[in-house]
Amino acid sequence: MAWRTLAVTLACLLALGLVPGQAAAERRCEAAADRLRADPMPPPPLLPPPPMPYRLTEITVPIWVHVITDGRRGAPAAAVAGQMETLRDAYSGKFGGADTKIRFALQGVTRTANPAWFRDPLGHEKVMKSTLRRGGPDTLNLYIAQLSELVLGFSTYPHWYSGNPPVDGVVIDWRSLPGGPLRNFDRGFTGVHEIGHWLGLLHTFENGCAEPGDGVEDTPPQGRPTDGCPDSKDTCPQPGEDPIHNFMDYSHDRCMREFTEGQAARMHQMWAAYRIPKT
Ligand SMILES: [Zn+2]
Repeated sequence: MAWRTLAVTLACLLALGLVPGQAAAERRCEAAADRLRADPMPPPPLLPPPPMPYRLTEITVPIWVHVITDGRRGAPAAAVAGQMETLRDAYSGKFGGADTKIRFALQGVTRTANPAWFRDPLGHEKVMKSTLRRGGPDTLNLYIAQLSELVLGFSTYPHWYSGNPPVDGVVIDWRSLPGGPLRNFDRGFTGVHEIGHWLGLLHTFENGCAEPGDGVEDTPPQGRPTDGCPDSKDTCPQPGEDPIHNFMDYSHDRCMREFTEGQAARMHQMWAAYRIPKT
């Protein structure tokens, strides 16, 4: 299984021209027939699952949006506004599921015309991020450029921050914003998913049916990512159907609608451990 995963991973990375070890989490790799993960994921967070029930004190995440264009194509201002609204709604449970008590406060939007960064933000990751990045460990820098058709976004994890602060952040494809031209992925949930990684969540199918899964108690074990939007799916012998409506699966946007209470707790736990600025 490990070799199969590795083979698919390498195939995806080669197809994308990515360098293993550089990119972080990404949402989808269409090149893999079974969509095994295409990114060099870290081991699950070292923290144990958060004790439930977990007391959530509202968190406000400062966010800087960096729109990269090639001078002609790129995210329109209205789509950026739509993405912010989608983030707010998704994290407060308006589409379904838990209110994560995570809010976002837009600090500003930068616009940069740079065709090379626009077409290959991963290849120019270091220079792009070190030029544009603002804030500390608690500031979300969201870069919107154009990725390959195979990958819609990628993110770093909170526990990576101290090792490499300048690359912290999320990159998504401008076509995945609400109302964008990317079929099946046009409701802005790519941004919701990638920011879930930035806040410390793993995929719901992490580790397949094996422990510790995604490190969250209330997302049933899931053997493999969901493709499209099936009526239901159950890939593990343990109780519970696959969480196909969860934002941390790979389902089409129309299928996604929720975070769980356990995921909300995990994000708050990771925030306290890694993202609150040390004074
Ligand atoms: Zn992902």
